[in-house]
Amino acid sequence: TETHVIMDETAIRRALTRIAHEILEKNKGIEGCVLIGIRTRGVYLAERIAAKIEEIEGTPIPWGELDVTPYRDDRLDENKANRKELLTMTPESLSIHNKKVILFDDVLYTGRTIRAAMDALMDCGRPQNIQLAVLADRGHRELPIRPDFIGKNVPTSKSEEIEVALIETDGQDEVKIIQN
Ligand code: 5GP
Ligand code: MG
Repeated sequence: TETHVIMDETAIRRALTRIAHEILEKNKGIEGCVLIGIRTRGVYLAERIAAKIEEIEGTPIPWGELDVTPYRDDRLDENKANRKELLTMTPESLSIHNKKVILFDDVLYTGRTIRAAMDALMDCGRPQNIQLAVLADRGHRELPIRPDFIGKNVPTSKSEEIEVALIETDGQDEVKIIQN
């Protein structure tokens, strides 16, 4: 195996700062926006962008976390009953109904996780629209899904993998490409 660092701490910080500005530009501010991170690492990306946006705008932006596991089309788990536990919002009373929802994930690959996330969100309300932000897009889509905000485009072969380390979960910020 061969590994290359493709984003260090500084590159990740700059990409997230840029994405925060792009979100503000596209939405002309944060009116009606909520950030939703997909567990696990998408949650920390959403939380960091929320902090950056609050720093820039001087107003807090609501954010939440989504667990899409029961909605994956490759899982046999058909138990979608505990819907309320899938989406946790801060502040808690907040809903996604009529909101501009910006979804966050660390890596975008086939698009199946995002499809599942959209399915889960639709069961929680009717968003005004859904936008997608990812730290790395490694290609190989199997569904018609494209990100609105991209940290880095990383053309990969199917035998390559991206390793995302974030301070919150891994003690450091680093994105690596691993050649198997
Ligand atoms: P997809 O559902 O688009 O095929 O894959 C995206 C999901 O799987 C994301 O939640 C992401 O965390 C994970 N994933 C897919 N490929 C990679 C990869 O190369 N590296 C990492 N770290 N996660 C991946
Ligand atoms: Mg994931």
